[in-house]
Amino acid sequence: MPITENVSLKELNWFRTGGPAKFFVEPSTTTEFVAALDFARTNNLEVFVLGEGANILISDAGFDGLVIRPKLNSIKILDIQKYQENLDLVAPENSITPEILVQAGAGVSFGELIDFCLDNNLLGLEEFSGIPGSVGGSVYINIHFFEFLLSQFLVSAEIIERQTGQILTVDNNWFEFGYDQSKLQTHQYYLISATFKLKLTNSLTAAFAKGRAHEIRRYRSHRYPSKNTCGSFFRNFHAHEVKLVLNQKPMIYTAYYLDKLGLKGTLRVGDAQVSHQHANMLINLGAASSQDLIELARQMQQQVYQNFGIIPQPECLLIGFKAYPLKAFDLN
Ligand SMILES: Cc1cc2nc3c(=O)[nH]c(=O)nc-3n(C[C@H](O)[C@H](O)[C@H](O)COP(=O)(O)OP(=O)(O)OC[C@H]3O[C@@H](n4cnc5c(N)ncnc54)[C@H](O)[C@@H]3O)c2cc1C
Repeated sequence: MPITENVSLKELNWFRTGGPAKFFVEPSTTTEFVAALDFARTNNLEVFVLGEGANILISDAGFDGLVIRPKLNSIKILDIQKYQENLDLVAPENSITPEILVQAGAGVSFGELIDFCLDNNLLGLEEFSGIPGSVGGSVYINIHFFEFLLSQFLVSAEIIERQTGQILTVDNNWFEFGYDQSKLQTHQYYLISATFKLKLTNSLTAAFAKGRAHEIRRYRSHRYPSKNTCGSFFRNFHAHEVKLVLNQKPMIYTAYYLDKLGLKGTLRVGDAQVSHQHANMLINLGAASSQDLIELARQMQQQVYQNFGIIPQPECLLIGFKAYPLKAFDLN
């Protein structure tokens, strides 16, 4: 498993910005992942585990440590015998939908996992169609779309402990999942694989689900930019952070405030611009630097603060910055 030096990360993240990794490795087995962590420990290096780079902004200076990009790419149905026995029972005239476990490696692309499940008549994950990312990155943030959270499907996982390199099998509770939250965010553990509980159905129902997946992807491609972005840049507010109440509910949606300011497709710093499709998405028009994107985000924070008295905070993860480059929530 070669550990390479000074590797550009620009093509490995969705913004297409940022500097190099001091060291870079792509372990394709758990043993190699353990060895990579050993290398980092021996050389006293910071570690960053990279997925598809769909939710990160890497500093122009790059990452001064070891970037691990897991190539753990297997997908398998765990209880294959139960799966095969039940295939005949899920005919359209029967209403039963047995539950089947599917295990996917951290490096599997989430879209590929959805397609695998639908091809095998397994339903549930198609609600996340069109959300870019790896299984590792998706569990890390607990991806969400409307009322669906990934944690509703995850039953167990294999993780690796950063300090000891020990492999542990943990259940759903261990993750302490919430909206945009999981215990992986302590950066003490990394995901090796995740196991999801899905519903086995007949081919006809699966064909409808494929249609739904296609429809969600089409809907998303109209609503959101499809490249050079990290999706929503700012997280939604927590209810206690906002003053505005609409229909007796605190207005927590950051895009609401940004929309009111009319920044869509207009506010721009260099080649960094607020998307014309979505007020909470920043895009690189081609030659933006990460610093341009940071400056744009700061201007957005400033405008929300001036008009509404609150400061949005990033959902996008800021990697390799020496100090927090944005305005903190409690700063004026
Ligand atoms: C156009 C667009 C639309 C989006 N829409 C949505 C949406 O609707 N809903 C939503 O929830 N998100 C959305 N996102 C955000 C993004 O898709 C998710 O956050 C995704 O799960 C990121 O996965 P990734 O592999 O790219 O992670 P990366 O961006 O590579 O990494 C994100 C974080 O995950 C950590 N990580 C990655 N792999 C592992 C691992 N194996 N173990 C531990 N930590 C790991 C990284 O260290 C990092 O901290 C969108 C993004 C884009 C670009």
